[in-house]
Amino acid sequence: MDVPCVRVAPKHGEAVRSRLADADVVADEFDITVEERWLYIPIRDVEEATDALEGSAAETEGKVIAYDVVDYAAPPRKTQTMPADILGWEPSYERLGETALLEEDDDERAREIARAIADSDLPLETVLNKASKIKGETRVRDWDVLAGEGTTVVHREYGCTFELDLAEVYFSPRLATERHRVAQQVTTGERAFDMFAGVGPFVIPFAKRGAECVGVDVNETAIEYLRINAERNGVEDRVTAICADVRSVAPEYGNWADRIVMNLPHSADEFLESAVTIAGDDCLVHYYDIQHEDDPFGPGERTIREAAEPAYEVSVETRRVVRSYAPHELNVCLDVRLER
Ligand code: SAM
Repeated sequence: MDVPCVRVAPKHGEAVRSRLADADVVADEFDITVEERWLYIPIRDVEEATDALEGSAAETEGKVIAYDVVDYAAPPRKTQTMPADILGWEPSYERLGETALLEEDDDERAREIARAIADSDLPLETVLNKASKIKGETRVRDWDVLAGEGTTVVHREYGCTFELDLAEVYFSPRLATERHRVAQQVTTGERAFDMFAGVGPFVIPFAKRGAECVGVDVNETAIEYLRINAERNGVEDRVTAICADVRSVAPEYGNWADRIVMNLPHSADEFLESAVTIAGDDCLVHYYDIQHEDDPFGPGERTIREAAEPAYEVSVETRRVVRSYAPHELNVCLDVRLER
């Protein structure tokens, strides 16, 4: 079976492989292969892989490493025992760093999957099962620890590293592509304000692209991790992390932002007045919402216009479905420009 592979000269193989491994995009279930003059490194995601290799030149003493992404018949790893080999069926789980996340209602089935993951050759040390829905103001959920120790993970996403405790803060790896879409728009020197920053999955990549960032969150632990992650990623000079209700912080940042992120989908509308306060003369707002599939963008657009007009001219630049949230409900993003 053909899988996407990074093709590179063997002498650069280890430098490229370790960079891809740092970004967690090497497809472990296939072997790395040398054929003729080339080394083929199987990858899980083409966009994430090319992103991880951006700037390789800098890390190899100024030499540019030439590589391609090609489809190649990489052999499945025969030596690797997968959870499905142990169970006889394919379990469903998400990966976050070295942790597997399950969503099983049946406790016995969850424990069976956890044992199979722990006994497999996958580099997964911890297995957690969701023990509650996301709840409360801080959007945190409970977890059962089925294998390994604790709920702290280190996750890599598009060249950034995030440390976080899943039992104390909100984090979803499913939004990685969406965050990357927004981060790619950020330019050096712009001022970006994340009103619900969590551990920094928007703020950190924004700051890495040279933005001056403010991240606010009401969850003290999330803000502690935001500071830790700013240091881990070498951007602490460009990140101000504030633990507060963003409504109380908004007046200090009046007319400040070139870009605002509002990722609190069920109740972002309640914070639009603050967003308008923070917005500069020309500001792009990334507004996340959850709405019925019949009119996923209409309610958000109407409330934004109500809050911002006539002080601002409001134009919707993007209407995007991020993912399906529940039957007939969509998680969407509106990119809305406010021009005074
Ligand atoms: N942006 C982060 C991300 O994508 O992972 C976190 C998003 S999470 C859905 C929403 C965050 O908003 C939570 O971390 C929660 O603690 C925070 N929050 C809720 N109400 C808030 C408020 N009034 N002021 C500031 N932060 C708030």
